[in-house]
Amino acid sequence: MNEKQNTNTKMISDEKSRFKISDDFERFNQINDIFSRAFWDDSVRNKQSDAFFESHRVQPKGKRAVGFKQKDFALRNASWALSDTFSDRNAHKGNREGFQSWMENDSLIADEKIKIDDQKSFTIEFKKIAKLFGADLIGITPIDKRWHYSKKVNTLEFKPVSNKLPGNFTSVIVMGHAMDKGLVDTYPSALASSAAGFEYSREAAIVTQMTTYIRSLGYEALGSMNDTALVIPYAIQAGLGEYGRHQMVITPEFGPRVRFSKIFTTLPLHHDKPKHHGITEYCNKCTKCADACPPKALPKGPPSYNVINRSTIKGVKKWSANCEKCFDYWTKLRTDCAICMRVCPFNRDFNSFRGKIFWKIATSFLQPVALWWEKKRGIPKRLKPDAWWQMQQ
Ligand code: SF4
Ligand code: SF4
Repeated sequence: MNEKQNTNTKMISDEKSRFKISDDFERFNQINDIFSRAFWDDSVRNKQSDAFFESHRVQPKGKRAVGFKQKDFALRNASWALSDTFSDRNAHKGNREGFQSWMENDSLIADEKIKIDDQKSFTIEFKKIAKLFGADLIGITPIDKRWHYSKKVNTLEFKPVSNKLPGNFTSVIVMGHAMDKGLVDTYPSALASSAAGFEYSREAAIVTQMTTYIRSLGYEALGSMNDTALVIPYAIQAGLGEYGRHQMVITPEFGPRVRFSKIFTTLPLHHDKPKHHGITEYCNKCTKCADACPPKALPKGPPSYNVINRSTIKGVKKWSANCEKCFDYWTKLRTDCAICMRVCPFNRDFNSFRGKIFWKIATSFLQPVALWWEKKRGIPKRLKPDAWWQMQQ
């Protein structure tokens, strides 16, 4: 299964990453991603889904419900503005950068490569620079082509096209971007969606700055957000967190409140290793996200190889959502939903005393105590969007 990679360090083993991959594994074709299907697949596309995308680009007319007023939609659309600028700039070529195509970078690659004598200490310095530009988390792992889409999508015709990377990359730099907890706590609302938009816009800026930095050091670098490859397995291999029932990576720093970007590069960097905290064991005994999901799109049973529909990757044993049900609910709201993120017991402030204690207990032999504590707490209440606006005054 493992392709031989052009890298100076070994591939991360599936055992260490805790991946279970069957012999009938197939790389995922991005044309089957639910956001691509919403444009070409009549079983997904309808007036409601068109209105969902349209609502991000037009002057907002607020609904009357709290959290869906003009002010909420205005903040959401503003938060996405920079990301939208990037995804639009080569849309005329069918390249929706950051979502269905990698991010172009016109900066020149320096003729001379900087000399790296000590890879480990250079990597520490490099991570410091990523944080300086605004990355909240950073991990590095070898290229693993299984996670690269078999095809990407030309968004002029919504047709699959070659996803061959323009370079002989050896490593993937995965950066984590923490979402604002106060906004996340108001899901579902147009206001909450700003938490996602802010991070996509930040990603676009940070990825562009970091790829320019690497190219100026004399090495190749290709920036990527949701495009080109699945970022979740890469984030796990890079040691940033563990997979949860709600299909998100749960990190020790921000729980599931993280978005990820990536950079493919030839820069010689020291690779991180996957870390196990006991999240899988916790999720095996918790169903809070699945219980709270309005369209019941999340599984309550153990991880499986079930292919729910064409948006599920084949041959990976995991918790998989029914993306059709999930996206249909988003279109009804006219904005994204992350109730599953909000209600997750790991959606906590891990800088607070209570947050620190919870993480310690939930990831130790005392895990049953954390599960009992959370059962007593029940599904956490949504922060009312009006309360969020007032909190800022
Ligand atoms: S995002 Fe919303 S609809 Fe989708 S799985 Fe999570 S709770 Fe369910
Ligand atoms: S809500 Fe519970 S089951 Fe779902 S991801 Fe969080 S800890 Fe795991």
